[in-house]
Amino acid sequence: MANDLGAKLAAHLGLTAVATTGPFRGGSAVGAIEGYPVVAGVGKKGSTNGVLVHVRWKKDSLTITPEQLKERFGTSPEVLAAMEKKSLSSGQVKSLLTVEPDGASLFWTYSMRQPSVERIGQMVRSLVALAKTNAQPVGDYCETCDTREGDLYLVDGIDVRRLCTSDRQRAEAADTAVVDAYRALESRPLVGLLFGTVAAIAAALVWAGVALVIHRVFAYVALAIGLGIGFAIFRGAGKIDLFGRAATVVLTIAAVILGQFIFVLVTVANAAGVPLSSELASRVAERFVSIEFSGSSGYLVLAFALIGAGAVFWMFRSPVRGRQFVLVSSSSSAS
Ligand SMILES: [Zn+2]
Repeated sequence: MANDLGAKLAAHLGLTAVATTGPFRGGSAVGAIEGYPVVAGVGKKGSTNGVLVHVRWKKDSLTITPEQLKERFGTSPEVLAAMEKKSLSSGQVKSLLTVEPDGASLFWTYSMRQPSVERIGQMVRSLVALAKTNAQPVGDYCETCDTREGDLYLVDGIDVRRLCTSDRQRAEAADTAVVDAYRALESRPLVGLLFGTVAAIAAALVWAGVALVIHRVFAYVALAIGLGIGFAIFRGAGKIDLFGRAATVVLTIAAVILGQFIFVLVTVANAAGVPLSSELASRVAERFVSIEFSGSSGYLVLAFALIGAGAVFWMFRSPVRGRQFVLVSSSSSAS
């Protein structure tokens, strides 16, 4: 079972086990090896399981290019032994290792069995060895001010940083300020509703127009309608709160149904050779729901429109919380 992998790996490498969330399943092993902060464990990237290792060095201290580092990684006997491989293609190395100015991230996917603690441990040590020969350690000082001793923190479960108490507090205060600024934003629900209604009517006309001209409708158009209405409400309201969300959902559904209704109405009028009238509209309306939602396509179109609206909620979501700093080891206990 992977549930205690973080603890086993921590014991194996002499690091600290942290049971915090982040991408890791079964916790992670966190600490500094010879001045290089490390976090390692097993977790998910998207829907894929893999071994995740993040090794940090002093920012911009890499003495070779990222490509050269990847080449050294791909030909390292220790890395190959940990992976039980004879060689790695440059394509494989590219998908395994990401090099950034202040560290490298490894995502090592496995197909059947999770690699043993020993093999993961060897991989961590190999990465630290590569960092040691090609970049400077982060050391014991705060990475922000570089004047006070820093404690090691795991930030949001994946990023490992050395910070002094006051710079950590400052970072937390900055996060809180962002959250507070969003909360303090004034919401204009009526303006949002007005913008949203105009957008919904325009969207319904566009929808009916597209359907009449090309005789089919696309999921993408539905998606765009949800996006457009959500964005219009956001622009009008200033921020999308609970009211904005409810208005977006209702108006998106209304726009799609209205668009489809106009399309069906015009189609029926053309086929029957009769002019558009309120009497025709009411007769079409009686049958509309059974026509539109008899199959799955009506629901599918609605679903896509709501996905579009949901994307807007996500884009303009409230920064609900700041970063989470978990103290891994304090400078006084650092070895
Ligand atoms: Zn500092």
